[in-house]
Amino acid sequence: MPIDAKAPYDPANIFARIIRGELPNRTVLETEHSLAFHDINPLAPIHVLVIPKGNYVSWDDFTEKASEAEITDFVRAVGQVARMTGADAQGYRLLSNVGKRGGQEVPHLHVHVFGGQPLGPMLA
Ligand code: 5GP
Repeated sequence: MPIDAKAPYDPANIFARIIRGELPNRTVLETEHSLAFHDINPLAPIHVLVIPKGNYVSWDDFTEKASEAEITDFVRAVGQVARMTGADAQGYRLLSNVGKRGGQEVPHLHVHVFGGQPLGPMLA
């Protein structure tokens, strides 16, 4: 069920629980302000989620409230994940679903990194 991206941040959401270490994850990269881990239901051979550690639901939320350091760290983390997974060798796709119409299911900002195969027109 897609979420309302304008709703207040829910600290009980799955990704908040992963950040707090309450739920396991297969970590690809952890930096000061970001975490990247394998999607539990991969839609491509490489399917990694990159999230900021701060409490942000959407891009408008993140870009309005996050510090320059958090934003830089997050953008760098996405590029680093593409390199670390080998996705960058032959090309990859970034996707970020936001809010009801975007089909966002987890109310914590995330970027999907897809790769490892030729990608169709849409994923996730
Ligand atoms: P969204 O539709 O919100 O853009 O994508 C949420 C993603 O989170 C989905 O691809 C889903 O498979 C993934 N996901 C949901 N719950 C978990 C979980 O507990 N662990 C991990 N690693 N991924 C999850």
